Amino acid sequence: MSRHRTVLLAAPRSFCAGVERAIDTVEYLLAAPDRHEPVYVRKQIVHNAHVVNDLAGRGAVFVEELDEVPHGATVVFSAHGVSPQVRRQAAERGLRVVDATCPLVTKVHTEAKRFAARGDMIVLVGHAGHEEVEGTFGEAPESTVIIDSPDHVAALQIPDGAPIAYLTQTTLSVEETERTVRALHERFPQLRGPSSADICYASTNRQHAVEAIAGRSDLVLVVGSTNSSNSQRMVEVAERHGIPAYLIEDAAAIDPDWLTAATVIGLSAGASAPQRLVEGVIDALRSMGPVTVREHRTAVEDIAFAAPTPVGRRS
Ligand code: SF4
Repeated sequence: MSRHRTVLLAAPRSFCAGVERAIDTVEYLLAAPDRHEPVYVRKQIVHNAHVVNDLAGRGAVFVEELDEVPHGATVVFSAHGVSPQVRRQAAERGLRVVDATCPLVTKVHTEAKRFAARGDMIVLVGHAGHEEVEGTFGEAPESTVIIDSPDHVAALQIPDGAPIAYLTQTTLSVEETERTVRALHERFPQLRGPSSADICYASTNRQHAVEAIAGRSDLVLVVGSTNSSNSQRMVEVAERHGIPAYLIEDAAAIDPDWLTAATVIGLSAGASAPQRLVEGVIDALRSMGPVTVREHRTAVEDIAFAAPTPVGRRS
């Protein structure tokens, strides 16, 4: 007889306000009745392959850089934000820009400009190469250094006593970032930081929600793409409980061998992963035997961001 399984469904999970806003922005532009040209999107609008493929199928054209966008066309900047250099390039090409940068990423850019203007060296805690970090770094490249763990604090080439401030990527591990900031404070007692935490509410809430179910699960599945930072951090939270945890693109990625000894399966989804993919995972588990689903909610989210205003001008 098939094993009866319980799915512990973490909440909050799936889309955050910044992701909803970014996807809505592209959908709005695609649906405009007077649209006669493609809608270009620089980089993945959010880090999820299903979302990108869906929008591409409806007419969005995803590009890596702006030199792939024809002069005068409409381009959307992704939720992860862009550097001032990219904004300048858009202006030079006469592009009509619709900026879907999450307002919580914009807040970090504003802080970077403020700290650099008062003469601080900025330690940006984040993953080099991630689009969000590239954008924030670009606000003050001469005075910013990037580190991604407390182990890198000792090697920082900043004179003791120099004015110094830190910022963080919005989707980091809450726990590891606390250790990094503590190490920075120990080495640089004059360290100043942002007025409120840069790790966003959605990343924090999703990590806490996984934390709450991981201790009662035999394994944890997190729905999300491999380039989704916040999803990867959720997997790490579960792994710290000593249980297997897997990041899966969708139900097709489940290896049945993972489930043979699992009676309680923790399930969540990163902030860029659609809820329908979570439902697909539950359906797949049901196809393997009876399943009881129990949701465990650790926070209520009621944040919504206003739509971006198109800026720029057609040449
Ligand atoms: Fe904004 Fe956080 Fe969502 Fe990123 S994960 S889009 S920073 S709310």
